[in-house]
Amino acid sequence: MLPLHNNINAFKMKRTKIADLLAEEKHGYEVVVKGWVRTFRSNRFIAINDGSTINNIQAVVDFDNTDEALLKRVTTGACVSVTGELVESLGKGQKYEIQVSAIEVLGDADAEKYPLQPKKHSLEFLREIAHLRPRTNTISAIMRIRHNVTYAIHKYFNDNGFYYINTPIITGSDAEGAGEMFTVTNFDLNNIPKDENGAINYKDDFFGKQTNLTVSGQLEAELAAMALGQVYTFGPTFRAENSNTTRHLAEFWMIEPEVAFADLDENMDLAESFLKYVIKHVLDNCQDDLAFLEARLLDEEKSKPQAERSEMKLTEKLQFVLDNNFVRLSYTEAIEILKRSKPNQKKKFQYLIDGWGADLQSEHERFLVEKHFKCPVILFDYPKEIKAFYMRQNDDGKTVRAMDVLFPGIGEIIGGSQREERLDVLKEKMKDFNIPEEEMWWYMDTRRFGTAPHSGFGLGLERLVLFVTGMGNIRDVIPFPRTPDNAEF
Ligand code: ATP
Ligand code: MN
Repeated sequence: MLPLHNNINAFKMKRTKIADLLAEEKHGYEVVVKGWVRTFRSNRFIAINDGSTINNIQAVVDFDNTDEALLKRVTTGACVSVTGELVESLGKGQKYEIQVSAIEVLGDADAEKYPLQPKKHSLEFLREIAHLRPRTNTISAIMRIRHNVTYAIHKYFNDNGFYYINTPIITGSDAEGAGEMFTVTNFDLNNIPKDENGAINYKDDFFGKQTNLTVSGQLEAELAAMALGQVYTFGPTFRAENSNTTRHLAEFWMIEPEVAFADLDENMDLAESFLKYVIKHVLDNCQDDLAFLEARLLDEEKSKPQAERSEMKLTEKLQFVLDNNFVRLSYTEAIEILKRSKPNQKKKFQYLIDGWGADLQSEHERFLVEKHFKCPVILFDYPKEIKAFYMRQNDDGKTVRAMDVLFPGIGEIIGGSQREERLDVLKEKMKDFNIPEEEMWWYMDTRRFGTAPHSGFGLGLERLVLFVTGMGNIRDVIPFPRTPDNAEF
């Protein structure tokens, strides 16, 4: 065998991961397992988890022949290394266990102080200890699924001929942001340079102009698509929106493909095929974690009134999305349906729909998806006033080639459009939106030099992870959530 440092394909350690052990066909040999103690029962059975799978391995100790002081240190949360023989387990629900011959405590966990006891903790409580919550079944399952979602996203784009482009995180353009942006500065905040009119002198700031954290990589992705054809970005985005909802974060990860020569129909095809691919990847590769989350949800549902219970189990819901075409519906048709809908007639919507032009709220989106069509929906051709300046104008002069993909339980999961590739129309739109041309000269250059029809969209990673895990709050599907008044850890 080659020495480890010469073997570029394998990373092997002396300890065996529990996931690998449980997948083994053979037993009856010595193994070393390292992980964190979940429980220690009857001075005999240690349940150990090492994060490689939702499943624990049971290590069985011979109490009479083990140092008692050492066993006292085997408490919930402690980190241990156990050596012993892998044997078939007689206990139900587990294939193997370890007959311990040696045990070492790598890290003690003061049983009085360790906050994660072997009982059910609320998700709210776990958010307060986000540094420890990956040690719970729920959060670790979500994090493994999140990883698989991320991997599937890169794989989908790679296999379909897209290039991964890194767009800037610090940006000098605020065309998209309109007030939702975080400023980036190295000014001494107690002594900000101002001019004689009291306006901030951004010329003296680090970049010589006002800069912000990006809210989207789209504009730069468009530049790349006009050279490389098919690209995507996948990076952090930041929005200082003070909406304290279960679907908004101040820092989230966004995936933004941009495709030259694609029209809106092809953009919708891409979005649908992409979402289905990622969901299928999770169904195929995260079975244990999905089964755990599904059982957890069923349990949670029991405490809800019948009418609010979901009709489908988690995996059924995911399979349903794969098996059905997304409904494609124009904004105008959607407004007609919403106007005539029961909750609108009976004034149950918080925002009543009285006519064409209204911006759709999440209650309307969810009505269409969950009550009316009972299926993912792609809405397109929105009024130009409620959508961004770069969206391609339709011949009716009233609508733009925008699309939103709406998912059950989530509402908007993707927002996208065919982009305005005509320089004269774009200039008009920028005037209407008060966007100064001199700030966007680089964006307009792509329309000046070799412009082409192109389309793209933005998917919020956490909204997709919310959907595939069946969780209800976006704060639970990102390791360390940033929301108004919260940037701990
Ligand atoms: P919403 O109406 O839900 O606030 P948006 O119209 O502001 O969404 P876009 O600007 O189109 O969203 O962003 C593209 C995608 O990014 C959205 O479809 C959504 O999946 C995700 N997204 C937007 N804002 C957030 C946020 N604050 N936290 C997490 N994901 C977000
Ligand atoms: Mn928003």
